Amino acid sequence: MISCAAAKLHRGFVRQPSVSIVPIEVVQNESTEMETLRFLDAARVIELQREFGTPFYVYDEQTLLDRANDVLAFPNPYGLIGRYAMKALPTAEVLRILTATGLHIDASSGFEAERAMRAGVEPERIQITAQELPRNLAALIAKGVRFNACSLLQLEKFGEANPGGELSVRINPGLGSGHSNRTNVGGPSASFGIWHEQLDQVLETAARHNLHITRMHTHIGSGSDPDKWVVCAKMSLTIAAKLPEVTSLSLGGGFKVGRMANEDSTDLIAVGQKIVPEIENFAREHGRELSLEVEPGTFLAANCGALVCTVTDVVETSAEGGYRFVKIDAGMSEIVRPSLYGGQHPIIVVPGTDETRGTGDFLVAGHCCESGDILTPEPGNPEALQTRELADPRVGDALVIEGVGAYCSGMSAKNYNAFPECAEILLRVDGSSELIRRRQTLDQMLQNEI
Ligand SMILES: *Cc1c(COP(=O)(O)O)cnc(C)c1O
Repeated sequence: MISCAAAKLHRGFVRQPSVSIVPIEVVQNESTEMETLRFLDAARVIELQREFGTPFYVYDEQTLLDRANDVLAFPNPYGLIGRYAMKALPTAEVLRILTATGLHIDASSGFEAERAMRAGVEPERIQITAQELPRNLAALIAKGVRFNACSLLQLEKFGEANPGGELSVRINPGLGSGHSNRTNVGGPSASFGIWHEQLDQVLETAARHNLHITRMHTHIGSGSDPDKWVVCAKMSLTIAAKLPEVTSLSLGGGFKVGRMANEDSTDLIAVGQKIVPEIENFAREHGRELSLEVEPGTFLAANCGALVCTVTDVVETSAEGGYRFVKIDAGMSEIVRPSLYGGQHPIIVVPGTDETRGTGDFLVAGHCCESGDILTPEPGNPEALQTRELADPRVGDALVIEGVGAYCSGMSAKNYNAFPECAEILLRVDGSSELIRRRQTLDQMLQNEI
């Protein structure tokens, strides 16, 4: 039942012979535990499957509130702002729930800032940290939206649009962290932020436009190890010392959470407790009491969401050296993390009937006609597959993919194969369920075509 610890590599296995000619590796699952449901139970899954039809995302309000409280309790000596990096899950009702706790918003584009305002967030509580300068920057700033310049050109353009204004600068401190090169956002191989050796140019540009750089920001994604966060905080403080008007330091997001049972989550209190003495030392040395900002996305949203699908087919390949595949009515059109960077998500088969089922090792395939649409990659490596131990699936069973609160609904191969954007359901604290986004119709998908 449990696969062997000595993982067997099967080379030369071709996933879709008609399309792909590249041999794909398949690794037997080495974990010894089957994953379990988080905030749902089997009866609820079946009830929601019948009521709303699959696929749909379901989010848990209580989990969102619990994580928001964790962020707002981040240790700090001179004040704290917690921002929600809304790109993780930008649905309006989620923005309302999180900002009602006191969290502010990190927006990744001018459009996201407008989206947050339409959800009712006050402009002063929104900060834009964007790769692409919003075309309507001046209008957004006039409304009160805050800006974090991420390059020298952005700083220049802000100065032209808003001479004498106040802003934040994003600095690349020269250090990176992240679980793969696709999630690494610091160091010489990352384009995010102003390189830390260009501070003279920052000061010169600011002086020319009479700008006040009162806030400094780094977001390098430091993971779950508190010691890495201290290293990042120390580097940031060294840079902040050279920006004399800075009174607020943002350490960004990137607090890792375990989606799988065997993965670690960040202990925010432990991270904060290590950083507090550094901020206090800075105050003694430089006479500036810096307030702190953190802006997690994953930490707040990842484990608050599940994707509920239905098993549509079970197929197998060659009796010797072949595999059993479970096919479902969702895939990269709803969750692209596995295909994009080998992201791992718990997968649980929920039989519609009470009978006990045996278990077996399976690969799970999404519904898109694309050989990369696989839900069971090897961790961190979408080029290879890894079987999972699942309850024997039958057509019609519900299949739940956990840990999809962050970077799934908001980041998917939307409408590929003309699959409509799926519905979103919220489980309220009082136990009721509510539709917060309808399933898209074909007419809506086509409405802009001429
Ligand atoms: C995406 C992003 C975050 C959130 O990152 P997580 O890894 O989801 O916590 C925070 N700040 C900025 C600037 C970002 O782009």
